[in-house]
Amino acid sequence: MEIKTIGVVGAGAMGSGIAQVAATAGYQVIMRDIEDRFVEKGMSGIDKFLTKSVQKGKVTEDQKKEIMGRIKGTTNLEDLKNVDYAIEAVIENLDLKKEVFKALDGMCRPEVVLTSNTSSMSITEIASATNRPDKVAGMHFFNPAPIMRLVEIIHGFNTSDETIKVVFDVTKKMGKDPVEVKKDSPGFIVNRIMIPHMLEAIKIVEEGIATPEDVDKAVKLGLNYPMGPFELMDLTGIDIAYHVTEYFFKELNKELKWVSPNLLKTMIRSGRLGKKTGAGWYGESK
Ligand code: NAD
Repeated sequence: MEIKTIGVVGAGAMGSGIAQVAATAGYQVIMRDIEDRFVEKGMSGIDKFLTKSVQKGKVTEDQKKEIMGRIKGTTNLEDLKNVDYAIEAVIENLDLKKEVFKALDGMCRPEVVLTSNTSSMSITEIASATNRPDKVAGMHFFNPAPIMRLVEIIHGFNTSDETIKVVFDVTKKMGKDPVEVKKDSPGFIVNRIMIPHMLEAIKIVEEGIATPEDVDKAVKLGLNYPMGPFELMDLTGIDIAYHVTEYFFKELNKELKWVSPNLLKTMIRSGRLGKKTGAGWYGESK
């Protein structure tokens, strides 16, 4: 089956970025969120990104118009009933994701592959909400989706090889670089590696060994990483780091290495979640 139209569920940071990537690759896109203001925010984010690309000479004004013209925003999930492929990017909540998959399964043609952009949750469990678990896979983009090249493609327990091939093909057509995660496991590859390094960084600060500034500087200059762990948490959301840590603790046998440091909890309780709240590890105190 030729894939022409892709349905994206969620128009937030990731959903809108993925919609943009898909439309840029030539797919027709139907992007759904629950309220008009979220759809509009997603569309205006794409518009802003593409306007900058025009200014930088990376795309022409005509190409920008064509890309925008391929994306249709909606609040009606039923508008996705004829899509050839779907990518879910709603908030990181398992019950909500299962609800979305159940609805997509009920309306999309039986051969349509349904994927989730979850950062850490079980693809097998998400797929259990459908009658097509062989056609459900993880398709994990990174933030910002139009810039980051990696996509982790994740097998659920029942995902067929044919489905994985379809996801690989779509990923490559989108100009992304895929890696295969052969087993459904919390955090897949990148987050399984990233979270312990963030937790260790927080413990170093908690123990008074160094400041966040110096930890970031040490990691950048000593490991040649482009960003330190505190800068990265401020960018991606300190609450996200916390929720993923709590999920790992629950799912990975309650090992002590996955216990959230008190300082991380304090950050959440004080509302310093990073760039999205105006302050995190960096930024003025309230
Ligand atoms: P976000 O909060 O920016 O966007 C989520 C959007 O989903 C919101 O606009 C919300 O209104 C919408 N939504 C909620 N219920 C919905 C429904 N039933 N139908 C349609 N839309 C609905 O979150 P995000 O950062 O875009 O994250 C989305 C997903 O991507 C999560 O699973 C997250 O773990 C994953 N992810 C996030 C990042 C990141 O760095 N932010 C990176 C990779 C993956």
